[in-house]
Amino acid sequence: MGQYYIAVTYDVCEHNNLYEYMNEYHLDLSIDMDKQIREFAKMDVAPIVKVYESDASDPGEFILYKEYKFKKYECGCNQ
Ligand SMILES: [Zn+2]
Repeated sequence: MGQYYIAVTYDVCEHNNLYEYMNEYHLDLSIDMDKQIREFAKMDVAPIVKVYESDASDPGEFILYKEYKFKKYECGCNQ
């Protein structure tokens, strides 16, 4: 058993101090990670997607692996 990765989408609004967990997705390591992350962000309109890595031998343990930011999905409060 190897490591596996999950992607978590977050809804963020700095103006309202919002940093909200939205959805969790399992990543398919046979597909390009960046491509999958872009799809999740688009689906949830999420400005932030974090990828967590887990060791299969210790499933409760998640470590932040990578953080993606999508400016185009940021809230429009200040506009
Ligand atoms: Zn906002």
